[in-house]
Amino acid sequence: MLTFDNRFLRELPGDPDLRNEPRQVFGACWSPVAPTPVAAPSLLVYSREMAAELGLNEEAMAAPELLAALAGNGLLPGMVSYATCYGGHQFGQWVGQLGDGRAILLGEAISRQGQRLELQIKGAGPTPYSRRADGRAVLRSSIREFLCSEAMHHLGVPTTRALSLVGTGETVVRDMFYDGHPVAEPGAVVCRVAPSFTRFGHFELLAARGEYALLRRLVDFTIARDFPEMLVDGQPELSRWFLEICRRTAHLMVHWMRVGFVHGVMNTDNMSILGLTIDYGPYGWVDNFDPGWTPNTTDASSRRYCFARQPAIARWNLERLADALAGLMPDPEALAVAIEHYDHVYASEFCRAFAAKLGLRDWRHDDSDLLEDLFELMRLSEIDMTEFFRSLARLDIENPSPDVVQGAFYREDLRRRFTGDLARWLIRYAARLRHDGQPAEQRAAQMNDCNPRYVLRNYLAQQAIDLAERGDAQMIYDLLDVLRRPYEEQAGRQAFSAKRPDWARHRAGCSMLSCSS
Ligand code: AMP
Ligand code: MG
Repeated sequence: MLTFDNRFLRELPGDPDLRNEPRQVFGACWSPVAPTPVAAPSLLVYSREMAAELGLNEEAMAAPELLAALAGNGLLPGMVSYATCYGGHQFGQWVGQLGDGRAILLGEAISRQGQRLELQIKGAGPTPYSRRADGRAVLRSSIREFLCSEAMHHLGVPTTRALSLVGTGETVVRDMFYDGHPVAEPGAVVCRVAPSFTRFGHFELLAARGEYALLRRLVDFTIARDFPEMLVDGQPELSRWFLEICRRTAHLMVHWMRVGFVHGVMNTDNMSILGLTIDYGPYGWVDNFDPGWTPNTTDASSRRYCFARQPAIARWNLERLADALAGLMPDPEALAVAIEHYDHVYASEFCRAFAAKLGLRDWRHDDSDLLEDLFELMRLSEIDMTEFFRSLARLDIENPSPDVVQGAFYREDLRRRFTGDLARWLIRYAARLRHDGQPAEQRAAQMNDCNPRYVLRNYLAQQAIDLAERGDAQMIYDLLDVLRRPYEEQAGRQAFSAKRPDWARHRAGCSMLSCSS
């Protein structure tokens, strides 16, 4: 059914200890561990695109032995199960060993096109890295991870993917807001897919422990397996590799900022070495444009991971990775150069992305003022980000009227107060577009190609969760379907582009989330 070639296991040292008990693991990159079977697995939904990439058709997806593997109840031929060892900086502090505490890898599948794709089941039971936690995941956060990974992929944002969402038939106890109200919730297992799940924290932990020989092996392995284009005469070239990580991370941050995605927990253990969005926890989508917004209640007081700080935090995380690699570098200066490269790539890609969002042919120096003024106006007037950019494509630049974006306001008082300022901004913007001289239709098409009509708004995900918890998975299918074509207007799907309703403004799951999942 699937072909495996498990290089991570073959080429990197494993933990000789076979006990599935929490412990510190030294001198190894992974520990063998069997998933813990669940009572009554059922396939709630799968991604047909992801399945197709793996060469799994409808019939294969219906096979009981595949369901067993996706639930953690058995392995397919060629699969080997293991958890990897990593550390991380959480909220700015080094915390030592973390590791795959509730994610279990099933091996490296080789796709029809010959691509290597690691399969990882999340919520499949404890591992040596679970510390005091249970290794399980609740349905609500699994739905959020499943839908958002696929939505991000279709938006063109680099991301880990999701193959399947399996209900376990078991409950998991969670105290959602850590306030002494534990509840038994339905459990689930998501099977995630990515060329590699390696994180910055994998390298950081080895460096922090002074395990330099193993660090060197992991670096060489990662370059050889995941960055073969970075080999020079067959030899790994560390400075080029780190430069590439900086480049990819810069691109990722631009994507998040352009679509209004807030990750919520940008700890270094949640940073992918491939520059993918990884670990969908208390993430959120910006509704009203608020640079200081964070969906994560744990981060509400410091706002370290709020919307606007993401690019700076990614840079900080790259610096931590640079610290870890410094001991291996013949020329440590190269690391600083690469971090500067991050700044340049971020700045230029940001301009490119926002030029496209605004329908500009290219970015000119003084466009920064135009954009900054817009951001400030959007913030003050609490305009919906997605709705605003999408509507802007309909502006008549010969006769710019704020009417086209009226639907983006949340508050009537702010609409009245800021419509004048907005009208003045639109006049400036229209003048800029006239100067560009691009035909209106062409401009609108360009804008619609990068300003999504549909994103996984927090309240939509929550509605799908509420229904699924009552046994109705229909909205998961509907969202998955709509979010396949986020840049296209889809007839009859207006409900999926509606901005946040009032009831959702302060509701748990819609505007506030916790790490408890
Ligand atoms: P996260 O905040 O999800 O990125 O997780 C941080 C660390 O905690 C990682 O090492 C996870 O594997 C671990 N972790 C989170 N939730 C659980 C859980 N329910 N059981 C075991 N480990 C967990
Ligand atoms: Mg994590």
